[in-house]
Amino acid sequence: MNFAYVSGNAALDLAGTVGSRRDEPDDTLATPADLERWVAACDELPDRVTADFPTFEFALSLREALYQLALDRVLDRRFDPAGLRIVNDAAAGPVPKMELSDAGLRMSGDLRAVLSHIARSGISVLADPQACLKECGRPGCTRIYLDRSRGARRTWCGMDACGNRVKAAAYRARRRAATTAEDDGPSRTT
Ligand SMILES: [Zn+2]
Repeated sequence: MNFAYVSGNAALDLAGTVGSRRDEPDDTLATPADLERWVAACDELPDRVTADFPTFEFALSLREALYQLALDRVLDRRFDPAGLRIVNDAAAGPVPKMELSDAGLRMSGDLRAVLSHIARSGISVLADPQACLKECGRPGCTRIYLDRSRGARRTWCGMDACGNRVKAAAYRARRRAATTAEDDGPSRTT
């Protein structure tokens, strides 16, 4: 299973580990080991954490709360109070250690601290009136991302996952329509 880090923010990427939320939710974090791999594969998080079951459950409730708040933001409505409580509580915990070197940023800490960091980064983006949050334009994707493009003209969460799929489907539909039109050709007057 490959994870996608395309939302422009770790909290939104965590929320995006469930796809197709409105149809058939597809959860890529089925076990604590999946969460360990998700953290390790995320560039801005520590390379190694261990997930016990209670912290895994906590991570999933944080994820759902972050999604709820991000959706509230996209739909321009008041934040869900239960979601706010969960995210604010998570953000209040100890945070990971950060170090700068010529190789860049290095972060270390346990999973609990990583979740605090994710909650904080979620709060920063959700509180920022300039942040342009959007839901992916592919019907059924449901991923929410931060559009940092000039003029905020981005339509998809990611080109590979969604943009190219939608374009390929549109191309096939056009071909189908063209073929049908050819078949109908001789009998058509317009
Ligand atoms: Zn998408």
